[in-house]
Amino acid sequence: MEPEPQLSARSPIDRRRFLALVGGVSALGAFVAACGGKAPSSGIASAATVEASPGPSPTPTPRPEPIFPAGVERFRLMPDTQWETSGIAIHSGKQGPRVLVLGGVHGNEPGGWMAAEQIADWVPLIGSLIVVPRANRLSTYAFVRTGDGFGDLNRAYPGNPNSPQPMSRMAAEIVQMANYYRPHWLFDLHESWMFYNERGPSGGTAFIGQTIASGGTADTLPLIKKSMDIVNERINLREQFTLRTTVSGQGGQPPPAGSTPRPTETATPASTALPGSVTPQLAGGSSSLGFARWVDGCTPVLIEMGQYEQHESRRAELHTMLVGTAMGRLGML
Ligand SMILES: [Zn+2]
Repeated sequence: MEPEPQLSARSPIDRRRFLALVGGVSALGAFVAACGGKAPSSGIASAATVEASPGPSPTPTPRPEPIFPAGVERFRLMPDTQWETSGIAIHSGKQGPRVLVLGGVHGNEPGGWMAAEQIADWVPLIGSLIVVPRANRLSTYAFVRTGDGFGDLNRAYPGNPNSPQPMSRMAAEIVQMANYYRPHWLFDLHESWMFYNERGPSGGTAFIGQTIASGGTADTLPLIKKSMDIVNERINLREQFTLRTTVSGQGGQPPPAGSTPRPTETATPASTALPGSVTPQLAGGSSSLGFARWVDGCTPVLIEMGQYEQHESRRAELHTMLVGTAMGRLGML
């Protein structure tokens, strides 16, 4: 039995209740901690005391809706390790949708974490906004997809707390954190190299820029589609997004000469069609599109921004437009 990690006395969440809620897994119990200087930049300074939801219940079906009083919580994933990264949860105090945003899952996709760092400053009118701007923080600093031996976070879900690969352990902490906050939506902000609409007849794994993939259902896909349509009306033709309801990423042609080959984000066996749930099973783990399997009621949305001849500031802006539009449709902004 490992000793249980210590939470700071300033932790905004009652630790016992939290552990009960997440099943009492001690090794993962310390993701929430009052976090001083390592939190993402935010205009919201003070953390409120937050009571956990009514619990515990070992196998609740369905589980009661959690209640998060108005305030801000800062938490750390993989605390006190070199892979530690910060997150923030901004609670309106009003019942409503809860949205989780991940940036920096891959370290060489700056548009995603730049956007997530901006989104971390938003204040939802209803529900809660939870943001982890740099999930694979060290890799964002090194500007590599993932560090040597880290493993690929977006191939690692649901993760394993005992894995030798740190990103598998990070995946497990993300899933555990998500099971605490119970987001209805996950926006996972990524970048590809080329644009999907410029892929040519044979397509290719590097050509999924300007796409949105979702593990949504007939109930949730319309909101994603509508949000995308609204954004598409406001941007130029090349920037416009495509909703990929069938996720496939195998084969295809190489990227143009001089470009950097990029692995696809959502490589998965073909023919995982929507509606229904997209649950790509990948060697060693799944992408975030399988999130609903581990976080009940969560619709994953994976946004891919093309890097080729599209400035990173615009990529970040388009990410924020998509997330902001969806949150607007949800009544959160
Ligand atoms: Zn990525």
